[in-house]
Amino acid sequence: MTAQIIDGKKTAQEMKAEFRDEVAKLKEKDIVPGLAVILVGEDPASQSYVTSKERDCAEVGIYSDDNRLLAETTQEELIALIEEKNNDPKINGILVQLPLPKHINESEVIFAINPEKDVDGFHPINVGKMMIGEKAFLPCTPHGVVHLLTRSNVTIEGANVVIIGRSNLVGKPLANMLIQKNKNANATVTVCHTRTKDLASHVKRADIIVAAVGRVNTVTADMVKDGAVVIDVGVNRVEDATKKRGYRLVGDVDYEAVKEKASLITPVPGGVGPMTRTMLLYNTIESAKAAAAK
Ligand code: NAP
Repeated sequence: MTAQIIDGKKTAQEMKAEFRDEVAKLKEKDIVPGLAVILVGEDPASQSYVTSKERDCAEVGIYSDDNRLLAETTQEELIALIEEKNNDPKINGILVQLPLPKHINESEVIFAINPEKDVDGFHPINVGKMMIGEKAFLPCTPHGVVHLLTRSNVTIEGANVVIIGRSNLVGKPLANMLIQKNKNANATVTVCHTRTKDLASHVKRADIIVAAVGRVNTVTADMVKDGAVVIDVGVNRVEDATKKRGYRLVGDVDYEAVKEKASLITPVPGGVGPMTRTMLLYNTIESAKAAAAK
């Protein structure tokens, strides 16, 4: 069996077209979703992420408020800016690009964001609400994974899902989302990590495999059941002299071999990555609608 490719780029484009229509309709009611993007320092990767997020906003008609701060910015100055955005009615979402410089405590910064504007879904109030199945902002990467599965008509209910990776960013929230007693969940979830004994034996039982590790070839073909759905969250650089930049991006899955056993598979790049950015737009629009309904 050769797997069908789950095209995250295409799905993201389709969702963005839907958002553009939705934002246009909101604008007719004088509702303009607004996202404040805050970047501290000059890290090139973070600069490029922030620029892409602002471009996405422009594409769908979301107002984006760009805040680029010097690397020496103090925690107090950053929190003061967040408070200003918390109180600004034009802003529905606040995104603080991580990682922050070492002298700033990330948790304290996240706690300072009004949970009603926490479109990254990192504030403990949103994490807690997600855990107990209440409406909350869901973190963008795992939420994007759920959308990729559902839009590809994968049955999650009753599926054996094995997630490799237990970070607060991906593995843990995804496990939480998939065990909820609701539509597009109701899965039986196993979460694996570096202390898992015999990773292969767990992965082999999976109907749906999600790799969120950051290590090349963590999932090889011999670990994959025929017909499994494989979602590769990992992003790794491997040296490649044929590329101008000297490297190429690959996931955590041995893509070429695994695609001969899986029924559906996400590529890297072009799988989960574009969905992460798209879910940020989704959360910002939802936040604007909630603010307008108050
Ligand atoms: P992380 O915080 O470093 O967590 C990695 C997880 O993988 C940890 O739970 C770790 O276990 C586990 N792990 C590492 N080596 C393992 C092994 N040999 N066997 C089993 N488990 C292993 O990483 P993250 O933030 O979750 O990100 C994971 C990957 O996804 C990275 O490549 C990142 O770049 C990528 N990512 C992509 C997107 C996107 O939009 N495409 C978004 C976020 C992240 P322990 O807990 O035991 O250490």
